[in-house]
Amino acid sequence: MSDLRSFARVCFLVAAMLPPTRSLEAARKPVLFNRPLNSYDRGVVQRVRARAAAKLDDPECGKLLTDFKDRGGRTLETNLQPLGVSASEYLLQLSFLDGSRLPACRTLSVIMATTPGVPRVFVCPAGAGRVTSRLSLMEFERGSLAEAMVIHEMLHTLGLGENPPSTFEITERVRDRCR
Ligand SMILES: [Zn+2]
Repeated sequence: MSDLRSFARVCFLVAAMLPPTRSLEAARKPVLFNRPLNSYDRGVVQRVRARAAAKLDDPECGKLLTDFKDRGGRTLETNLQPLGVSASEYLLQLSFLDGSRLPACRTLSVIMATTPGVPRVFVCPAGAGRVTSRLSLMEFERGSLAEAMVIHEMLHTLGLGENPPSTFEITERVRDRCR
C-alpha cells in the first residue's frame, strides 16, 4: 500500500503542476509538447491500455464514469457521450505523448501528466540515462497498477479534477471497480 500511496501522491503533484490548458496551448512553442513517444514506449502504452480497456468493458469497471463528475457537476459519462464511443474505445484512441520536455516530468516521481478535460496524456521519461518511460518501469514492476494509473489519467481527460476527490481515492476506486 505504501508504494500505491506514493504513486497516488505523484498524481496529485501532476495535477497541481500542469499549467492550465489555455496557457499550455498558447505557449510560444507548443510543438515542443506534442512529441510522439518512441517506439518502445508506444508498445508499452499499447499493452497497458489494451488491458485497461478490456477492464473498462466490464460493467462494474464502467461505473467509474458515473462515480465521478467534473467541476461543473457533469458525470464523465455525460462528457463521453458526444464522442459516440465506449469508454474502452475512447481509451484506445486517446493520445499518449512524450512528456520529456514537460516541466511536470522533471519531478522524478511523476509518471504521467494530464490536464483535466484535455484528451491527451503525457508520459514522463524514466530519466537517469534510461531510454524508457516511468510507465514502462511500473508495467514491469506492477502491471495492474500501471493499468489503474492509465484509467486514472483517462478519467482526468474526461474532466475529472482532484481534491475532491483525492488522488488516492481515485486510484483506490479504479482498483476496486476494475479487477
Ligand atoms: Zn490524478
